[in-house]
Amino acid sequence: MRLLIITTVFIIIMLHVLSLRAQTASNEIEPPKNIILMIGDGMGVAQIQASMLAKGDQLHMQQFSEIGFMTTHSYNNGVTDSGAGGTAIATGRKTRNGMIGMSHDSVPAPSMLEILAAKGLATGIVVSCAVTHATPASFIAKNINRNNYEEIAVDYLKVPVDVVIGGGIKHFAARKDYRNLEKELIQSGYQVYRSLVEVSADKYYILTDSVHPPSMIKNRGNFLPKATQLAISTLSKNESGFFMMVEGSQIDWAGHDNDSAYLVQETIDFDEAVGEALKFAIQDNNTLVIVTADHETGGLTLSGSYKSAVLQPKLKFTSDDHTAVMVPVMAFGPGADSFKGFYDNVDLFQKIMALVAE
Ligand code: MG
Ligand code: ZN
Repeated sequence: MRLLIITTVFIIIMLHVLSLRAQTASNEIEPPKNIILMIGDGMGVAQIQASMLAKGDQLHMQQFSEIGFMTTHSYNNGVTDSGAGGTAIATGRKTRNGMIGMSHDSVPAPSMLEILAAKGLATGIVVSCAVTHATPASFIAKNINRNNYEEIAVDYLKVPVDVVIGGGIKHFAARKDYRNLEKELIQSGYQVYRSLVEVSADKYYILTDSVHPPSMIKNRGNFLPKATQLAISTLSKNESGFFMMVEGSQIDWAGHDNDSAYLVQETIDFDEAVGEALKFAIQDNNTLVIVTADHETGGLTLSGSYKSAVLQPKLKFTSDDHTAVMVPVMAFGPGADSFKGFYDNVDLFQKIMALVAE
């Protein structure tokens, strides 16, 4: 009897000690100061592997060691579009294909950009498409239809985003309602530029094209990596940290076109932007970089044939649309560990929020 009491007391004390230790351990996880979320639109594992082969195993992405996989279905379809896919990542809500920044029953949802801006972080959007397009719009706008570009542009003025770089002049300054949003932005304290120049201001828009910047094949050059580097240099001035979303927008379009050369060039360009983010994160030591995709496009596979011991991959598309296959999630920096494993796209939002919750 006495032995039983002593054992019970001992077990209770040990449980208490262990729970205290667990609490201390969880308190020791420092949240990242900065978060750089990078989305390769339509970038599945075959897109990455094709680019690894084209670049002789020299992709920046190959530096990641914390890797997970994410399912991407939308509320109403096993295959998501970029509106619902972007919305799932940005807001943690499943929505119907075609919708932006709201739940399936049209309830607007705050995006992680808005939530983190409210916590005092500087925020940015850097894309190689119009900034009004579905993926960036998911972090900014609330709209039942992703094609309402002019309404989406108006939503930019309602969100405290500090740096915006991409195309889309037409939706801001050549509108059906004759509003000039570029002028309105200037009135509310932004600098507005129409080419990628060195900027010393803290709040600015760089809208380089009427709608979308050109493809890599049509000489976009180093626009995306350079814009990424510029945005980081601006946003990192904020003492409370920053959040930015960078999109390699045209990997998806190459997939729709079943165009291998276009696809590999866009993925390598996106990877150069990843390289800029990693370079900053490694020296800063307090930045979480997450690289993922909203879905896969093209049903791409590599049907290889070996010629003299060298893999000559043949890129083979099995679709001209998005597919339901899982996409990779790569993470580096404080909290990177929590992105390992298998989960769903809405969980990515929860995982990021869990890291920054006070
Ligand atoms: Mg996109
Ligand atoms: Zn697409």
